[in-house]
Amino acid sequence: MKILTTCGAAAVVCILILVMCTGCTTDQQQYTTQPAGTSGEESYATVLDAGTLDARLEEYPVATLSAAEESDLLYMQEEEKLARDVYAVFFETWGMQVFKNIGKAEQTHMDSVTVLIERYGLESQSESSVTAGVFAHPELQALYDDLVKTGILSPEDALRAAILVEETDIVDLRDAMSRTDNGDIRYVYENLMRGSENHLRAFARNLEQQGESYTPMVLTQVDYDGIVSTSVRPGGFS
Ligand code: MN
Ligand code: MN
Repeated sequence: MKILTTCGAAAVVCILILVMCTGCTTDQQQYTTQPAGTSGEESYATVLDAGTLDARLEEYPVATLSAAEESDLLYMQEEEKLARDVYAVFFETWGMQVFKNIGKAEQTHMDSVTVLIERYGLESQSESSVTAGVFAHPELQALYDDLVKTGILSPEDALRAAILVEETDIVDLRDAMSRTDNGDIRYVYENLMRGSENHLRAFARNLEQQGESYTPMVLTQVDYDGIVSTSVRPGGFS
């Protein structure tokens, strides 16, 4: 009887902890871009809640995908993974919080594309999606290898490599958006784009704080300046 009571108490505690943890997770994962100027780099994290995403996607029909829409989804999933994996290496190497925070956002970006991939019943790139630093697309593998090679040279090199990741992501998202008319896909891409622009601003600001400048390699200078300068929002960064 005593044992039973102990087990019962333990079960109650476990359930309580579970409920509390679930509550915490839900609070942290609301789909918001926090306003700039709040708490350092945290303000750049675009965090995606799976429940919110599912609810939004319900609003759109599961329309037929073109071959381009299919291959773009698989590519974008890996490109978000590339960002996540690169920032994980940079955080491990340099311990800079910006890489940890933005890496978390990249995980949610990757997950949101995975939701679309599953929604359309596409063949998932399962092996490459679980192994860090491994990619099914050869061009992404080559890009990853290059970025890591240069980013481990110095913190400034890591920030430059990170800006290049975001530049590339923005251009690839624009291209992918131009090839889809599906509302659900556009919704996800638009949110990834917003995240990438925030990340670009964060990395550019960090580099600037090191007294370094940056010349865009993928975006035009006008485009780049436009994105970086829109950081001026209520309470925003300059
Ligand atoms: Mn991203
Ligand atoms: Mn990003």
